[in-house]
Amino acid sequence: MLQEYTLALEKQNSVFSIVDADKIIEIEQEILSRQNETALERNHYIDNYYNFESFKNEQSINSIFIIATPSSFYILKIKYLEKEINIKIPPIYGNRNQILENIKTITKKTFVKFSFNTFPVILPKKLLAAYSGLAQYGNNGLVYVQGMGSYHRLTAFASDFKNDHYIWVKPSMMKSCQQCGRCVENCPSKALRHGIPWVNINRCITEFNEKDGIFPDWMHKSWHNCLIGCIKCQEICPHNNKKEKINDILLQYSDVEDIINIEEIKDLPERLKRILININMDRYWTCSRTRVVLSQVLQNAPHFAVF
Ligand code: SF4
Ligand code: SF4
Repeated sequence: MLQEYTLALEKQNSVFSIVDADKIIEIEQEILSRQNETALERNHYIDNYYNFESFKNEQSINSIFIIATPSSFYILKIKYLEKEINIKIPPIYGNRNQILENIKTITKKTFVKFSFNTFPVILPKKLLAAYSGLAQYGNNGLVYVQGMGSYHRLTAFASDFKNDHYIWVKPSMMKSCQQCGRCVENCPSKALRHGIPWVNINRCITEFNEKDGIFPDWMHKSWHNCLIGCIKCQEICPHNNKKEKINDILLQYSDVEDIINIEEIKDLPERLKRILININMDRYWTCSRTRVVLSQVLQNAPHFAVF
């Protein structure tokens, strides 16, 4: 089964590892012990997102599969006053649904064929990837996968499949980070610290623009560099492929005005709505901050990364 699954995932350029389900309790204990830190996995996820209880209640689970798939940039190219403004959407966001659907299809086909069951789980994927040896932490708190850098999307699910041998390693930071520190220097809001894979979530731009609400006063307008999230600590990293796949999406300035002014995605012109749904931006549409970021980026066009 594993050989067939490996080959099927390789066609998506994906790699995977398997974690012994009995070890999940150690991950839970680790992140609980770090509740007062903003380290490794973000602590508010412990209460509001991860679901260790339903995982423990499913007695037939033997293994957790964690899969890494390359995830590319999307760039909104907007014509404005005879110039073109490029607005980035970092990896992870734009092809989220496509990656999930592909992995689900491959997994279902293979596991059903070999009479194994699968179960959805909501667990700390970065820690699963690090403990299973699939990835190593970077100084920027992200996990790096061989051949993908940090430009990937992780997918996890549980199964009654039992492996003969499981890898379980203590998460570590890449050796090259010790002499590098470029991500720390390039972080606009000084949310990183040299020498530890730690993100100050109270300063990280992504933590603010993925959620609704008002930006804090200390967050300078010129720091916004993406439609959603922030790419500064990844694009500077030598482990990330500078020739990564980029998907261009052409928009007119009138589209941007619509995006800024229209509250509900259902009210956008049909063509624009389809474009945005296609890159999963409807997931963030109720987030007024996304529109604020876009308008701020445009207002600050001279300071914005046009490349
Ligand atoms: S930029 Fe340098 S320090 Fe930061 S994650 Fe990459 S290699 Fe590590
Ligand atoms: S995502 Fe942006 S704000 Fe957050 S740590 Fe990285 S560079 Fe800093």
